[in-house]
Amino acid sequence: MANPAKHANPTKRGWLPYLSTSARASMPSSGLILLDSATEATMSTEQTSSEELPHGKSEALEYQCIAKDHLSRASLLTLPHGVVDTPIFMPVGTQGTVKGLTASELEEEPINAPIILANTYFINLRPGTDLLDEIGGLHKLEGWSRNLLTDSGGFQMVSLLDLAEFTEEGVHFQSPVDGTELLLTPEKSMAIQNSIGSDIMMALDDVVPVTCKDHARFELAAERSVRWIDRCIAAHTNTANQNLFGIIQGGTDPVLREYSLKHFMERDAKLPGYAIGGLSGGEDKADFWRTVKQCCDVLPPSKPRYVMGVGYPVDLVVCVCLGADMFDCVYPTRTGRFGTALVPTGTMNLRLAQFREDSRPVMQGCRCFVCRTYTRAYLHDTVSETLTGQLIAYHNVAYQLQLMRGLRQSIVEHRLEAFVRDFMAKQFPEGAPQWVRDAVEAAGMSLE
Ligand SMILES: [Zn+2]
Repeated sequence: MANPAKHANPTKRGWLPYLSTSARASMPSSGLILLDSATEATMSTEQTSSEELPHGKSEALEYQCIAKDHLSRASLLTLPHGVVDTPIFMPVGTQGTVKGLTASELEEEPINAPIILANTYFINLRPGTDLLDEIGGLHKLEGWSRNLLTDSGGFQMVSLLDLAEFTEEGVHFQSPVDGTELLLTPEKSMAIQNSIGSDIMMALDDVVPVTCKDHARFELAAERSVRWIDRCIAAHTNTANQNLFGIIQGGTDPVLREYSLKHFMERDAKLPGYAIGGLSGGEDKADFWRTVKQCCDVLPPSKPRYVMGVGYPVDLVVCVCLGADMFDCVYPTRTGRFGTALVPTGTMNLRLAQFREDSRPVMQGCRCFVCRTYTRAYLHDTVSETLTGQLIAYHNVAYQLQLMRGLRQSIVEHRLEAFVRDFMAKQFPEGAPQWVRDAVEAAGMSLE
């Protein structure tokens, strides 16, 4: 069990110096230079007339909305390892590092990620909690001085292991290392995440693939996830330095989502933030956006909202329009390793012969070193090389972070609708699909 004092954060008093290297670079040029949260909030309040901007504070997290545009929020999320400008895309690591990217690449412009995601399941396998306890957490082990978010470990088991089985006690599975029977309980998940020392820890919940047809199974999962959040809250030993987020479940059934939302809101005093879980698994797109909106409409305005597993650029833009703040997905790195780059017009498959003599960068105007250094022709020619896959993955992560900064700036400057119109027009030159138009309309805007 982790010692609550062990991960006491040396940078906690050092947020402002941190801002000078990270947050400032992504701040808009409209005069909103960061002095401190309070000053900035005052300045942007003036911009947004008399509307009150949500602000919330818990032991190890402060959420300060600095601007709203329709349902979208631009905010400063202060965590133990620095300030996160939201909306934010969080690159996903497996062993605490993002595949193919070094910590310094993640810290430098144009990626400059203030938070990354690490998988509890992999970290528990290796290096394991004993070594983490000895060293003092994953930040120290990996040399990552910014924020970390860890998942509960449950979803990894469901997606990777055929033999995972959920019971009231926890998730039973066979060790892929030696085949022994193992059990991940809410208590065990909290203990591992306390050892990791992540700034945001995710609750262990009962996960059902969204394409499952068994309604009774979704009901059981929604109810069990409520019982498990109580066990997670009771087991979490480091509330002074680590934030436990609850995960709203319920598949795409509005009644079950309402149930989940109601019961989590009853525990609101114990939860510094929320995730919307169980989506992005192949569900109908209309169900996807309606579920995100239903949750965002009910979740407290003064706390961050994280939509798990969302990484397609169109989905990111839609979810931000609906009021979500945080996202993660392996998609940009994974698709990059297979030779596909993310660009304003959608995707660019660099394996295609049409790029053989193309001397342009992957994306005009991208500030990443891959676009400043390499031609499409070079990347096409070497696309089967591991290094080239990593280069494209790097560009893709840079693309996502730049996209989120563009969205954020448009919210601060109250021109979100124009930003979204321009973005969707490039993605869908022949017209956006109905679900996108419906979602944007539900957010009070129009693509016409
Ligand atoms: Zn680039």
